[in-house]
Amino acid sequence: MRLGRYTTDAEQPWCGARTDEETVVNLSEAGAAAGVDLPRSSTDLLADWQWRRKAELAVEYAEETGTGVYDVDDVNRLEPVRNPRKVVCVGLNYRDHAEEGDNPIPDEPVLFSKFPTTVTGPGSTISWDPDLTEKVDYEAELVVVIGREARRVSREDAMDHVAGYLVGNDVSARDLQHGDGQWVRGKSLDTFAPIGPELVTADEVDDPHDLEIWAEVNGERLQESTTANLIFGIDELVSFCSRAFTLEPGDLLFTGTPPGVGVYREPPVLLEDGDEVTIGIEELGELTNTCTYDS
Ligand code: ZN
Repeated sequence: MRLGRYTTDAEQPWCGARTDEETVVNLSEAGAAAGVDLPRSSTDLLADWQWRRKAELAVEYAEETGTGVYDVDDVNRLEPVRNPRKVVCVGLNYRDHAEEGDNPIPDEPVLFSKFPTTVTGPGSTISWDPDLTEKVDYEAELVVVIGREARRVSREDAMDHVAGYLVGNDVSARDLQHGDGQWVRGKSLDTFAPIGPELVTADEVDDPHDLEIWAEVNGERLQESTTANLIFGIDELVSFCSRAFTLEPGDLLFTGTPPGVGVYREPPVLLEDGDEVTIGIEELGELTNTCTYDS
C-alpha cells in the first residue's frame, strides 16, 4: 500500500491510500462509512496493529461505492508522516561516500539526529536564512518508517518492526555542521528533512537493499548509487538503535547518503534560492522541493 497525507481546501489533513496514479482514498472517510475506525494521522494509523486489515476494508468499500475517493490532482500532498517522535540518522553508511570524504569505514553505525520540526513534504520549500548559513547541501536517502515499537530486537526480528519506506533528503548546512563540533544545528533547520512522495509499505518493496537511488539539482544528476552499497543494512540499523533506545511507530530512520554530495564536489555545488532538488529511489518514487531564502 502507498500511504500519504493530503488535504482538500479548508479541510484537516487526512491519511490516504494511493490506489493508482490518479486516485487516492481518504481512509478515515471511507472507513467511517464502512464501519471501521481509522485515524486521520498516519502515525496513529501505524500504531494500530490492525491498521492494515482496516485500511484494506476501507479501500475496498471506497472502490465499490466511490465514498472517500479523490482525484490526486484535486488534493494537496503533505509529508506522509508528521510529527514523528524521533528522526534518527546514520552518517557514513555508503562505502563509496565514506571514501569520498576520506573517512575510514566505521565498525559500527554512527548515529545522529534531526529535530522533528525539520520534516516537510513533497513539493514544499526548503528554506533558510542566507545570513545563518551559506553552505546548504542535499543528501539523497532511503528513509525507514517504524511500524511497531522496537526495544532490544535482534537483527533477525528487526524487519517485523518496519512499516515501510520513504524517499528523503537529509538537507545539511555544512558550515554549521562542521563549525559547531557536533551536527545537530546544521542538520536541524526547519524544512531540512523533506520526505515523500508516499510511504510505500514494506510488503511492496522487493528488496530494500537493492534499489537505485539518485539526486538531481535543477535537472542535473549529482548522486547515483544503489542501496546495495549500504555498509549497515536496515535490519542491522533497527537492531542497533533498539539496543540503545526504543523506536516507536512513526519514527523515521534516515539510512545515510551515497557519494556525490555538493560539499565534496570539485567545484562544490551549494544550494541557492530557486534551486530545484529531486531525490529519487526505485520503486518509491521521486521527491521534489524548491529552495528559497527566508531572511
Ligand atoms: Zn545524511
